[in-house]
Amino acid sequence: MKSLEPSPRKIHFSSLVTRLPGIIPGLLSLESFQALENCIEDRQKNTGFFKFNEYKKDRAKLFGRFQGIFLKGYDNLRGVDRRFGKINIEISNICNLQCTFCPEVIRSKKTMKLDAFEHITKEIAPLTDQVTYHLMGDPLVHSKLDAFLEISARYNTPVFLVTNGTLLDANRSKSLLHPILRQVNFSLHSFPDNFPDRDPGTYLARIFEYVDRALLRRPDLYLNFRLWNLESPTRFPEANSRIREHIETHYKVKLPDRVDVRSKKSFRIRDRLYVHYDTEFVWPDPELPLLGETGTCHGLRNHFGILVDGTVVPCCLDKEGRIPLGNILERPILEILESRKAKEILHGFLNRKLVDPLCQRCNYVTRFS
Ligand code: SF4
Ligand code: SF4
Repeated sequence: MKSLEPSPRKIHFSSLVTRLPGIIPGLLSLESFQALENCIEDRQKNTGFFKFNEYKKDRAKLFGRFQGIFLKGYDNLRGVDRRFGKINIEISNICNLQCTFCPEVIRSKKTMKLDAFEHITKEIAPLTDQVTYHLMGDPLVHSKLDAFLEISARYNTPVFLVTNGTLLDANRSKSLLHPILRQVNFSLHSFPDNFPDRDPGTYLARIFEYVDRALLRRPDLYLNFRLWNLESPTRFPEANSRIREHIETHYKVKLPDRVDVRSKKSFRIRDRLYVHYDTEFVWPDPELPLLGETGTCHGLRNHFGILVDGTVVPCCLDKEGRIPLGNILERPILEILESRKAKEILHGFLNRKLVDPLCQRCNYVTRFS
């Protein structure tokens, strides 16, 4: 297995050339600078006078974005390997809803302390391109969301946030414009599942208000309306029809009448706002029947998870910590990822072998076969 240690090394001309593909995407995102500059100009034109505080805020955003690009280029030059596309850090295992397709958390209910989060962020920042703030639970439940975002910004770890959006209020809407956020996903399917008889109008109006502001103030931010409750790869549930109508009316678009999520899941509404469809999946559980020992998974290759108490798990589906690899608050992350258990699981995935009993009962692997 490749060493997990980031390895700064001497820079040769040839290595610079081979790293160009990694540097170019960073430079391409200058396009989003341009969009933000245009947005600032528009605002100044529209308001008709110069607002110094607003200007300072916009400049800070631009600076943050430049800093991100610069650091990415610098990583590339140093040969630092952010090998994980995403790391799930569970800042709270509490959710204000209880969806039928999301099994209840059996672990004791907890929220993460800021010093624990800072310790974790410091450890994982050189290894990943972005973090999510959940594994189970909804991040908007945490009262210190702003402080978490500030820490992520300090360590330059962009945030990919998933929420059911029911707790979105004026303060949280403001927090979700923080420049360190890269993507905000709203699990809209959770609303009809919890409130089947209620019209989603008021719930969606709050989300639309935030999204409309984000489209103006954060044109670089990706926004997703998730409908992950399809009954089959091509079948919409009736429960989505009212949500769909509200989206079509508000954004003056026509969403597709038919989908097949095996070939396409995401549909653009406008700018960087998308609707994303998927089927429900069954959470792995040690009580489920054995499905097989052959298969592969992206766990420990592309991502891993950290539960609210610091337990490191190989994926975002190990909701009860059935595959504990070690505790990041007690041991360095590189030591945990180099442990015998982690290596055996990863080696198994690379050779199409499901080593852990939980993986042998995991339906999710069929998505990679
Ligand atoms: S699916 Fe999301 S909204 Fe529903 S209970 Fe689970 S964490 Fe909460
Ligand atoms: S096979 Fe399933 S349980 Fe195992 S690491 Fe992958 S997603 Fe997690």
